[in-house]
Amino acid sequence: MGMTAHDPQFAREQRGILRWFGFGAAPRSDELEDGNAPGEAADIDPRERQRRQLLTDIGSFLLTHRLEVNLYTLAIAHDIITGTDHRLARQIEARVGAREPVTLEWLEEARRGAGQGDGAAMLNALMAKLETSLTDFAETTGTARLATSEYNSVLEAHVGELEQNSKAGVAITELATIAKVMLDHTRKIEQEMSRSEMQTRAMQSNLDDARRKAEMDHLTGLPNRRAFECAFDKELEAAKEAGEPLCVAFVDIDHFKKVNDTHGHDSGDRVLKAVAQTLAKISGDKCHVARHGGEEFVVLIRGKKLEEAWTVLDGARQAMAERRLVNRATDMPFGQVTFSGGIADVFAYRCHRDALKAADESLYVAKAQGRNCIVFAETTAGKIAV
Ligand code: GH3
Ligand code: MG
Ligand code: MG
Repeated sequence: MGMTAHDPQFAREQRGILRWFGFGAAPRSDELEDGNAPGEAADIDPRERQRRQLLTDIGSFLLTHRLEVNLYTLAIAHDIITGTDHRLARQIEARVGAREPVTLEWLEEARRGAGQGDGAAMLNALMAKLETSLTDFAETTGTARLATSEYNSVLEAHVGELEQNSKAGVAITELATIAKVMLDHTRKIEQEMSRSEMQTRAMQSNLDDARRKAEMDHLTGLPNRRAFECAFDKELEAAKEAGEPLCVAFVDIDHFKKVNDTHGHDSGDRVLKAVAQTLAKISGDKCHVARHGGEEFVVLIRGKKLEEAWTVLDGARQAMAERRLVNRATDMPFGQVTFSGGIADVFAYRCHRDALKAADESLYVAKAQGRNCIVFAETTAGKIAV
C-alpha cells in the first residue's frame, strides 16, 4: 500500500530522492504547481523548472509505490509521468483504485504483457531510424553533389581563365600536367596493346604460313605426303560419316629417268610440274592430289565408286598423254609424257593402309602391262588404255 503525498515521511524521502538527483532544495509538490519553490529565483529558466517538476513527479511515483530506485524503475516512472506509456499508466491507476500494490514484480509482468502488443511502437522506432539514415544519406550525397558541382565550377572558371588570359593558377597547371601524363600513359598503353595485337596477328599468320609450307611440295605446289596422310584420315572419317565411297590411287610417271637423262634434271623438274598441273585439274572438294615423293603422286577421290573414280583419273591420264611438251631451253620436244596408275576402293580393304598398298601393287601391274594406263586393284588384269 503506498503512502500519500502529504505524509511527512513522504516529504522527507522526496527530498532524499531529489538530493540523489543532484538537487539541494526539496520543494513541496503543491508549491511547485503554483509557482516557484521557496528559495528559488523568480526568473528561473522554464525548462529547468519543467525538469525539476518531472524529477519531483518521478520521485513521488517511486516513493508512493515504495519502488526501489534503479534504472528500470526510473524508466517506468518517466514513461508514466510523461505519458509515453499510457497503457501502463491506466493499469497503475486501476491497480491503485483496486488498492492493490504496484510492486516491481507486477510492473515487470505488466511491461512484459505490454511488450507483446508493442510491434507498432518498435516499427515506428525502426522507421524513425531509417528516416534518420535516409536524411543523413541524402545530406551526404547532396553535399558530394554540391562539392562536385562547386569543384566543376571552380575548374571551369580556372579553365576559362586559362583560355582567356593564360594566367592559370598553380593548381590548374599541376592538374593539367597530371591529366596530360595520364593521357600520354593511356595512349602508350593503347599503342602497346594495338602493337601486341598486330604482333599476335602477324605471328598467327606466320604460323599459318609455316604450316602451309610444311604441308606443301615446293616444286609442284601440290600438297606433300604429310598433307596427304592428314587428308587421308579426314576423308576417311568424312566418307564413313556420309556413307560415301572412297578411292585411293597411286600414279607414277613413265620412263621418267629417260627424261632426266635426255634433257637434264632441271628440264625433268619442269616435266614433273607439268604432270602435277594436269593431275591438279581433277582436284576439288572431294578429290585430293598430292606429290607422294619423286615422280609419284597419290590421289584420293571421295563420293565416287571405283569405276567412276577410275574414269576421273583416267581422264587426267588421257589429258597428259595428249599433251606435247617442248623443252623451252632447247626447243627439243619431250615427246609423249605419260603416267600409269593403280586405283583401289578403300572400303574393300581391312584398313586404309592395305588399300594404299593394293593401289601401289596395281600401279606395278599397270607398268607391267605396258604403262600409260590405270589399273583397278581388284582386277589386277586392269584396264589398259593406249
Ligand atoms: P617407270 O616407268 O618404271 O616408272 O620408269 P622410271 O624411269 O620413271 O622409274 P625410275 O624409278 O627408274 O626413275 C625415277 C626417276 O625419277 C629417278 C629420279 O632421278 C627421278 N626423279 C625423282 N624425283 C625427281 C625430281 O624431283 N626431279 C627430277 N628431275 N627427277 C626426279
Ligand atoms: Mg617411280
Ligand atoms: Mg616412274
